[in-house]
Amino acid sequence: MKSPLLLVACLALAPLSAAEGPPPEAVFHSGKIVTVNRDFTLSEAFAVRGGRIVGVGTTAQMRALARPGVTELHDLGGRMVLPGLIDSHVHPSAAAMTEFEHRIPDMDTIADVLAYIAGRAKVEPPGDWISLSQVFITRLKEARFPTRAELDAAAPHHPVAFHTGPDVMVNSLALARSGIDRNFVLKDGREGYLEKDANGEPTGLLRSLARLLKKTSRSVKTTDADRLKWLGDLFQDYNKIGLTTVADRGANAQSIKLYENMLGRGDLKVRVALSHTFPTSGSPEAILKSIDELAAHPLRAESGWLRIIGTKMWLDGGMLTGSAYMLKPWGVSTIYGIQDPLYRGVLNVSPEQLLPMVRRVAKHGMQFTAHVQGDGAVTTLMDIYERVNAEIPIKNLRMGLTHSSFMTRETVERVARLGVVPDIQPIWLYLDARTLVQQFGYDRMRYFQPLRSLLAAGGIAGGGSDHMQKIGDLRSINPYNPFLGMWITITRGAKWYEGQLHPEEALTRRQAIEFYTRNNATLLFWEKELGSIETGKRADFIVIDRDLLNCPIDDLKTTRVLQTWLEAKRVYSSSGQ
Ligand SMILES: [Zn+2]
Repeated sequence: MKSPLLLVACLALAPLSAAEGPPPEAVFHSGKIVTVNRDFTLSEAFAVRGGRIVGVGTTAQMRALARPGVTELHDLGGRMVLPGLIDSHVHPSAAAMTEFEHRIPDMDTIADVLAYIAGRAKVEPPGDWISLSQVFITRLKEARFPTRAELDAAAPHHPVAFHTGPDVMVNSLALARSGIDRNFVLKDGREGYLEKDANGEPTGLLRSLARLLKKTSRSVKTTDADRLKWLGDLFQDYNKIGLTTVADRGANAQSIKLYENMLGRGDLKVRVALSHTFPTSGSPEAILKSIDELAAHPLRAESGWLRIIGTKMWLDGGMLTGSAYMLKPWGVSTIYGIQDPLYRGVLNVSPEQLLPMVRRVAKHGMQFTAHVQGDGAVTTLMDIYERVNAEIPIKNLRMGLTHSSFMTRETVERVARLGVVPDIQPIWLYLDARTLVQQFGYDRMRYFQPLRSLLAAGGIAGGGSDHMQKIGDLRSINPYNPFLGMWITITRGAKWYEGQLHPEEALTRRQAIEFYTRNNATLLFWEKELGSIETGKRADFIVIDRDLLNCPIDDLKTTRVLQTWLEAKRVYSSSGQ
């Protein structure tokens, strides 16, 4: 978009939309307000009363509403203002506690991983388990698992478990402790695969078999006060990078207890939409009963702060660990340690089991969403949505596709037609494209996060990070800096990768901003309250240090937030005041 000409044009057209009634409590003026309304109008000022926006227009128009002694005037000094940013996918309560015991360094190479393990071996008593999790092999320079021998050398006197998603690589002591040797036979009737070398010896790689490890870890003592403190620190960090609303895509009774506690004390500084988990194994009656119970949960009620919007389950494995369920075989792979040329990944729940779950959630008028990474899993879930739609129209239910990294042309069109709303993680394009292209080839990545196609087809998609570990917008797993996320959707550039990944799927700057604001408000059923700076909406907004619409594109990803406001109360200021 070209300012300032357009800015002037928009200002001339901007309607003065000031509500009747008493004067505003605050007027924010002399800024460059990216309203993110339907027309993406730029404006100069807005007025606020009772935490809500009561007018948007020129500085002169808004200042004219002010009354001395009643209205506080805030000069924005020409800075750009955006609606508060929304992350459609985080796991805050668990992420906040990752480093409760000790700090976990960034790991870019196998050497980093081994150095961390060797360091832990120096402080942990011999014989105690050393575990690390969610260091994704796709993000290691070598793009492979550490070997059993490497883990043995790093910690010869400790059982070691290198977890990544549902898979785990272990050392010799861990195998011995767990009774796994060349004669091992899987007897529990569940999914899983033990990798063996040419001589029939376990390589240490246990695919979907972490449950076999006989871990005896010291239980870490944490109190509610600890959990609240760390979660509060995390939410402060969310505010610091401009997030005012998130979706917890794996909410459960424990995390809800923390949010309710914060809300009760007036300490909740981030709005949280909840996609509640439910058990997907067990008797069909018990599964449906647990869905019925969620539908009757008090947090189903309308709320601007904390609300259960629906349910979440995990339909397939991961693309970073070699278990996403694909339409075509993965292919034999040294990266992922795949030997079987016909292997397509793992589907956790069959379509026959899935159908009654989706139908029951739809019957209650809730949003169903599932972790679906591979195009096979995405297609399976879309088929189920189509079947349920024949009985219960689902368009208003905004059924979800969580991640849906690998899609097809057909899926794009069905998503738009059925009003399904994908929640997509650009940071994976950035961190994992290099290895994924190595695995699948460039052409098979054609519908990897096909954002431009989705929007062009009339669909709505929103952006999220899948933040699951550590506090820190760039050091966390996965990094939750939304400006980096925007930059990725615009450039389709990736780490350690030359060029762009299918630039034909790149978004415009406007679309990238909408992706983290008004689109996400729709995904979370908060579009009447949030996602834009318009009369009637809650006054959540951020002031940033540069012009996102006109700055050099690579400057966009290092945007800094100067202030974050929730219902016109400042919750973050870079100056510390
Ligand atoms: Zn997640």
